[in-house]
Amino acid sequence: MQRVQLKLYNSLSRKTEAFKPLKKGRVSIYSCGPTVYQYAHVGNLRAYLATDILRRVLEYDGLRVRHVMNITDVGHLTSDADTGEDKVEVAAKRTGRTAKEITKFYADQFVKDIRALNIELPVKFAWASRYIKEQIELVKRLEKKGYTYKTSDGIYFDTAKFKGYGKLGTSGLAGKRVSRVAHSREKKRATDFALWKLSGSKKRQQEWKSPWGVGYPGWHIECSAISTRELGQPFDIHTGGEDHILIHHNDEIAQSEAAYSKPLAHYWFHNAFMVVNKKKMAKSAGNFYTLSDLGKQGIEPIAFRYLAASSHYRQKLNFSKSALVGAQNSLNKLRVVFFQRKHRGRTSQVYRKRFLAAINSDLNMPKAIMVVWDLVKSKKPLADKQATLLNFDRVLGLGLEDYKPVTVPAKVKALVRERESAREAGDWEKADKLRAQIVRLGFAVKDMPSGSRIYGK
Ligand code: AMP
Ligand code: ZN
Repeated sequence: MQRVQLKLYNSLSRKTEAFKPLKKGRVSIYSCGPTVYQYAHVGNLRAYLATDILRRVLEYDGLRVRHVMNITDVGHLTSDADTGEDKVEVAAKRTGRTAKEITKFYADQFVKDIRALNIELPVKFAWASRYIKEQIELVKRLEKKGYTYKTSDGIYFDTAKFKGYGKLGTSGLAGKRVSRVAHSREKKRATDFALWKLSGSKKRQQEWKSPWGVGYPGWHIECSAISTRELGQPFDIHTGGEDHILIHHNDEIAQSEAAYSKPLAHYWFHNAFMVVNKKKMAKSAGNFYTLSDLGKQGIEPIAFRYLAASSHYRQKLNFSKSALVGAQNSLNKLRVVFFQRKHRGRTSQVYRKRFLAAINSDLNMPKAIMVVWDLVKSKKPLADKQATLLNFDRVLGLGLEDYKPVTVPAKVKALVRERESAREAGDWEKADKLRAQIVRLGFAVKDMPSGSRIYGK
């Protein structure tokens, strides 16, 4: 098999680089995981899908991946500026449930969501609250090296002491972090951040003893402590959404590099936002949708996967009903190829070469998807098309292997007949509406010279 080398955009160098793992044939990846106080929205899920494509491409290229993801169950405050309350504690208070109940419930939901999206599970989900010892050790190390100072509400990292703070860029940082005067007169600089927060007079549900008093870890320290513990330092690739670049990831780099005098990760991989009418989809903005919202509209999780997997991870992805219906339609059409199952087909090397070139060019999935459709439309024997698509599906993850044609329910058949009559009468608007209804029920309809054909999920 021909060897290829992945070219990957690195947010650290701001260049597309040839990817070289630290250990031959192996790749270590750390992903900032969810904060488990709410359902994940499809914007969050886009981040995990982008990482899943990265991981699958590396595996397709023959590398062994060790992937670790944290679960933030403590310390993520409602503001990035070390003010506000812990998101989990707020949710607990609001619902009258315990912090443990909240985090367990939403972490379970998250795993269900990523399973439904056919995302390969990390080798480990590392819960922040189970790494308190490691986080305290890291803060102690930073303290010993003179990078910290104490205020009345916690231990802070002194960014002035770390040469080159802001390695991932600083533009826009001032606006993101409110001025120190606004929230804590004791904080020396707006960029300084909490490593350990003290509970003070407030009794919290999740708090631990530490050399500085009872409290809880700052949000950034968990990722540094967990990644170093599970993957070593440096490791290969750190992933997250682009909203984490300025603060969370700059801070992770500062504390880890200050502690160990070596890089935290060699490559930084950031996905662009999923947006709704040009605005970032966010829990706080209230413009978010979950997988179950999509399900109510007849869109399968895998159709959302198709949508996300066919866009480029560094381009904004617009959330729209028509894009989702389009993705569901395309997926249904792709499944048509497997309507009649053939065996002993051969992977087309011509198409595979094109596919390989696309995915290794900074995960150019729009191009890879074009190869998929060129193949589907080609004159290749059906058996070869199936074999080649199944090969590509190791990256696409659409579950084509498991696809089983289903019998078409009477309701769908009736809609198809009604649509045919509408078409015969030249009522295209009605025909389109009926098609949308059919798609919502999970079927695709294709107009052939001999009449309509229905394809199922
Ligand atoms: P959170 O649970 O808020 O920590 O976010 C989980 C992941 O989703 C992080 O990697 C975020 O950067 C990412 N993320 C949040 N909102 C979006 C969005 N609208 N589009 C893409 N990724 C997002
Ligand atoms: Zn993180």
